[in-house]
Amino acid sequence: MKRLLLIHGAELIAMALLGSIPLFISNPYVLALLTLLAIYGILLIGLDVTVGFLGQVNLGHVAFLGLGAYAAGLMVTRFGFGMIPALLAAMAVGFILGALLALPSLRLEGPQFALATLSFAALSTTALNELEGLTGGAQGLSLTRPPWFGRELTPPGFYWLCLAMLVLVWVLMRNVLASHWGRAFEALRDSPIATDAMGVGTYRHKVAAFALGSGLGGLAGGLYAFNFQYLQPQSFTYDLMVILLLGVVLGGRKSLWGALVGATLVVLLPNLLSNHTLFRIFAGVGFLVMVVTGVQGLIRKRLRPFQALAPIVAMGMLVLGGFVVENTENWRKAIFSLMLFSVVVGLPEGLMGFLSEFLTQAFKVPPVPLPEPATLDSVLPVRIPEDSPILVLEDLKRYFGGVKAVDGLSITIRAGSIHGLIGPNGSGKSTVVNVISGLYLPTAGRVLLRGKPLPLGSLVKVAKAGVARTFQNLQLFGELTALENVMVALRGVYHSPLPLVLLGLAYKEEQKARAEALTLLELVGLREEARTKAKDLTYGAQRFLEIGRALARKPEILILDEPAAGLAHPDVLKQIEVIQRIQQRGMTIILIEHHMDVVSELCDVVSVLDGGRLIAEGSPETIKRDPKVVEAYLGQPQPPTGGISPLEPLTA
Ligand code: ADP
Ligand code: MG
Repeated sequence: MKRLLLIHGAELIAMALLGSIPLFISNPYVLALLTLLAIYGILLIGLDVTVGFLGQVNLGHVAFLGLGAYAAGLMVTRFGFGMIPALLAAMAVGFILGALLALPSLRLEGPQFALATLSFAALSTTALNELEGLTGGAQGLSLTRPPWFGRELTPPGFYWLCLAMLVLVWVLMRNVLASHWGRAFEALRDSPIATDAMGVGTYRHKVAAFALGSGLGGLAGGLYAFNFQYLQPQSFTYDLMVILLLGVVLGGRKSLWGALVGATLVVLLPNLLSNHTLFRIFAGVGFLVMVVTGVQGLIRKRLRPFQALAPIVAMGMLVLGGFVVENTENWRKAIFSLMLFSVVVGLPEGLMGFLSEFLTQAFKVPPVPLPEPATLDSVLPVRIPEDSPILVLEDLKRYFGGVKAVDGLSITIRAGSIHGLIGPNGSGKSTVVNVISGLYLPTAGRVLLRGKPLPLGSLVKVAKAGVARTFQNLQLFGELTALENVMVALRGVYHSPLPLVLLGLAYKEEQKARAEALTLLELVGLREEARTKAKDLTYGAQRFLEIGRALARKPEILILDEPAAGLAHPDVLKQIEVIQRIQQRGMTIILIEHHMDVVSELCDVVSVLDGGRLIAEGSPETIKRDPKVVEAYLGQPQPPTGGISPLEPLTA
């Protein structure tokens, strides 16, 4: 309660303050700055969706601002529409073109995606420039602001309109970003593979996020058009884009407040550059912030000496420049570069990241309250497994070039059993898992689930068919908390359609999701770590979290790829217990495991692979004595000796 009061209170106060300024200050210049602040606020919230939440370098956002502005301008000048339809059109243009750009480009990663968005930006400015008949080309497009419900808007009136839009966008975005949509955006940034494997379509969410962000860019463009009432294609070029990125990064990614702080910076930058005193103060403050964070980072061993020093030097150069350089405007690009560099290196979480840590401590903001866990029976009801095969691999093959990683494998897995899959390193175990779970297409062969072919080659489809897996090389969503990691994967809880989520009316299912996720964390022994970010968990805890997250799929079949790898002995024992508890729910488990004692303890049947082929199958006791198995592990026939487990590879 206190938490909500503090957070929403701060929002209310900020917005009320912003809204009341025109009542006290009638300076038109201040009002113009405030109006721009509201518009850029919307623009940066949109940019933050792709840059912050999706973690993509988006260099095309400025194009959506421009296209939105022109769309609104043309709606008014050419077609005589009013302001509301024009703004809706601006948003729609951003949304649709954003989706169209995202469809092909979001398959791209990193630099390629950045280039695709950059080309889109170049293309749209050129088009705006060259389509003279429509846009007026380089001459520009003049428009007059249409009346608002029959009345001319005064400057404060227009400002309040923009602010109201910002508040609306703020509230809707806060709701959607705090929902399973927002978590999916962040999950796919941290691990697209795991996002897919948890049945949350990466591609679908990427396109949705990009369209959403671009739609906000378009809306901001519409307001921009009505604010300046004159548009030129040159306004929407790379220069502005760099400033926008600077705004998001400096303000703080993944934060609405950060977007607002960033927008303030973007609005004030021109003044900073033209006013010597202001510039010196700004550079001085920046320098101090870098010194503080640098020293702090060194003490907490978060930064290496050079990482701490470089931003201080960069900001120092800015301070120096403030006294030496006559005309700071001429140096604007150099100044932006220095600032961007300092922030990226020295303040990666941005100003809001820096401030929020400080503010949470100062105001003693209590952590997110957690509900009581749901009962385990309601989350994972006990299934009575039928006495029949559940999964059948039929002559499965997977080659990588000349490497026959899996070479004609036929295995039958009985419902409700723990089926061990063992074999020396490189014998093809992980490849089998990757084929079953849809990460790789098989070269040949079939996998049948309850007699029906699994839709191979698609992680999402296999996940939806009821198969969940963990990864040998952990694939957690590092920036999300343990609880959120599980919530991303949770099946059968999120039913509310997007409009309800936007309006914040999906509160009940969020509570339910939290309660269920807590139950699963408790099952794997991580309830106390619910609020810890996955990347900050111990290695052992991360292994357990992957199991908890896979269970959130409430799967019929759970595939664990070396879940005990690298675990300390007490953790191995704990894991055995956890796996037994999971089996008691009637779940079928495929377990890849190196420790023979774990295999003996847990498995009903064990299949032994070597060179991608099945060399033995049976109960743990029989395969342990099988000479072929011993040979595969040791390279020569040798009876198992007491003490050393024959199935531990000697080199491991
Ligand atoms: P295991 O999990 O039993 O240790 P893997 O399934 O990881 O074995 O690997 C089996 C063989 O397939 C190894 O020779 C490995 O080098 C090869 N392999 C696995 N994945 C790939 C891949 N993506 N590309 C090329 N070769 C691969
Ligand atoms: Mg492996």
